[in-house]
Amino acid sequence: MAESGSVGQRHHQVLIVGGGSGGITVASQLLRARPGLDVALLEPSSVHEYQSGWILAGAGLLPYEQTHRPEAAVIPGGASWIRDSAAVFEPEAHRVVTTAGATLSYDVLVVAMGLQLNWSAIKGLPDGLGSHGIVSNYSHPHIRATWEAIRSFRGGTALFTHPATPIKCGGAPQKVMYLADDIFQGTSGVGVNSRVIFCSALAKLYPVKAYNATVERIVARRGIETRLLHNLIEVRPEEQVAVFEVRSEGSEPALEEIRFDLLHVVPPMAAPDVVSHSPLAIEGPGGWVEVDKDTCRHKRFADVFALGDVSSLPTAKSLAAIRGQAPVLVANLLAFLDGAPLHARYDGYTACPLITSFHSVVMAEFDYDLQPVSSFLVDPTKERWSMFLIETRLFPWVYWHRVLKGRLHESRFLKPFKPLVRALGLARKEPCPEPRT
Ligand SMILES: Cc1cc2nc3c(=O)[nH]c(=O)nc-3n(C[C@H](O)[C@H](O)[C@H](O)COP(=O)(O)OP(=O)(O)OC[C@H]3O[C@@H](n4cnc5c(N)ncnc54)[C@H](O)[C@@H]3O)c2cc1C
Repeated sequence: MAESGSVGQRHHQVLIVGGGSGGITVASQLLRARPGLDVALLEPSSVHEYQSGWILAGAGLLPYEQTHRPEAAVIPGGASWIRDSAAVFEPEAHRVVTTAGATLSYDVLVVAMGLQLNWSAIKGLPDGLGSHGIVSNYSHPHIRATWEAIRSFRGGTALFTHPATPIKCGGAPQKVMYLADDIFQGTSGVGVNSRVIFCSALAKLYPVKAYNATVERIVARRGIETRLLHNLIEVRPEEQVAVFEVRSEGSEPALEEIRFDLLHVVPPMAAPDVVSHSPLAIEGPGGWVEVDKDTCRHKRFADVFALGDVSSLPTAKSLAAIRGQAPVLVANLLAFLDGAPLHARYDGYTACPLITSFHSVVMAEFDYDLQPVSSFLVDPTKERWSMFLIETRLFPWVYWHRVLKGRLHESRFLKPFKPLVRALGLARKEPCPEPRT
């Protein structure tokens, strides 16, 4: 990997904007498939984050050191790193202008910039974050304080929120709540007198019917109150009051105030402004990069692809989804460079592993049809200790050593069992080689 400044004009065969989970995975897979390809990564940060590890690390289930590495250590050999950020997309001219003023042109552009957290869409935030019991695992600098607040909670009302927008890892707002509830109930010591309330702007606890049934059982067993269609719009830190806009069928939205002693906030999310204000954006809320749901290619600009959180791919945003998207994008990008038809298809595969206690996980995998699928030989709707071990022990290793190295396209270690898994109706589909009709 060669690091370079960015002033002036440069051209690359493949320009990848964003060196997070999606960008690095694609760069690695491209260079494994075609060594010598001219691949450049435009990424401003010196640190690469394993965001899936943030909740684990905060809860003491993973050492903090395993949640981040220097960016230079994850960029694959053969790729050049442009340490700068995208400021303007000019897809008609096949170029990106950077914050430092460089102009980068490309044969193919891959947008993998993740999403932005819109804290200021909630009145009183982000200023109130970190004070008066207001915490969040979605803000890296606040993770340690979040867990300190949970561990030192002396009782009262603990609110956990889920916003109205798509978010990264739809299960994360609940994972932190179940772990916190274990701590409040004194699983490893003396419990406290707590009232736990989950306030979600959505109409269901989980978008997939089979997993929703599991989650409903879990909250009932734990005695957690659920308030659906409750969207957090304001926090008054000094009073420790959260204000929700409550929707109900056939009537105007109403406001409801809930007093809290602890408030875990998950803010609304959208594509970064530089994307949503560009010609790449889809019309309407979110401003995501408008790609075809099967090929990951832009609907209007043939030399632009996108994956991960920034894309409009209509599935739950997660690292697991990137595992399904990257090989499809790479196959189609190489086909495009060769002037061949784009045959690889993404089936919407995603997963939001739900940590439901300090010893169980529901490995919630599903596809575009919102059908449960499993990369493992088990019923994915059940809480399992085996999946807890996989999520907490195996996945971090797999991330650093397989995913980012471009070596994990499929669960290869399960390949010999695939026919059996398929026969049981559990297997995820392979990216299909021919276009669907
Ligand atoms: C608390 C939490 C828990 C999670 N748990 C799980 C889980 O258990 N399982 C799971 O599958 N997923 C989980 N996720 C989601 C997962 O981490 C994300 O979906 C995944 O990281 C998305 O990858 P990405 O490449 O799209 O974006 P990111 O990994 O966020 O990378 C985006 C990159 O773009 C760069 N960038 C931003 N702006 C610019 C710019 N202007 N120019 C150039 N570069 C730019 C950023 O610096 C960053 O490096 C979790 C996320 C969080 C926050």
